[in-house]
Amino acid sequence: IIGGPCSVETPEQMEASAKHVREAGCRLMRGGAFKPRTSPYTFQGKGVEGLDMFRKAADKYDLPIVTELMDVRMLDTFLEYDVDVIQIGTRNMQNFDLLKEVGRINKPVILKRGMAATISEWLMAAEYIAAGGNHNIIFCERGIRTYETYYRNVLDVTAVPVLKKETHFPVIIDPSHAGGKAWMVPALSRAAIAAGADGLLVEMHPKPCEAWCDADQALTPEELKGLMGELKGIAAVLGRSI
Ligand code: PEP
Ligand code: MN
Repeated sequence: IIGGPCSVETPEQMEASAKHVREAGCRLMRGGAFKPRTSPYTFQGKGVEGLDMFRKAADKYDLPIVTELMDVRMLDTFLEYDVDVIQIGTRNMQNFDLLKEVGRINKPVILKRGMAATISEWLMAAEYIAAGGNHNIIFCERGIRTYETYYRNVLDVTAVPVLKKETHFPVIIDPSHAGGKAWMVPALSRAAIAAGADGLLVEMHPKPCEAWCDADQALTPEELKGLMGELKGIAAVLGRSI
């Protein structure tokens, strides 16, 4: 399970987040330093300063870091900070030049599904990475856009068994961006693990109502801890462990 805030904000927020992620039993920490925001007038991420805060906080708690790469010009910086897992976000799933570049390096890549991408398009996007020699690819279903507007996106749980059949790569679920509300996250997470997902990417903030981005969908540290306990039970039924 990968837990952490939507965005890197301050050293204090990252330190508290890392502590809670570690205490909850998550194996990796997430946090965006470069944010792909719909509006150019909203918070765009702390950038390189954010990577620095993230690296320091995560190292203190011995957590590998997962963070989004939006621009190929930042790839060398990501390597300098030794980002452990590079995330390609939904909006860049078909940024083929970006995919080619992460295909040339030796770092795991989480490839999020484009919010309007078919399974075939997603698989072909992954081929761009694999074709360059990087076979460390993790698929992440994060909800797709449909006619439904009650929730942020529709979690396509069906993608889990389909990708398991079509590829040998791990498949994880992001219940946070799928539902868009914290109260939906536990149910979607349980469904994901029950469907055979290999992991989750979950947003948690030490103080959700103060989050600079995606405040509505962030779990509290206590909620994350509680969820981890529930998921352990579900995984055990399937003969897996968290
Ligand atoms: C994120 O995980 O921070 C994010 C922006 O997700 P997505 O690309 O799925 O919207
Ligand atoms: Mn987010």
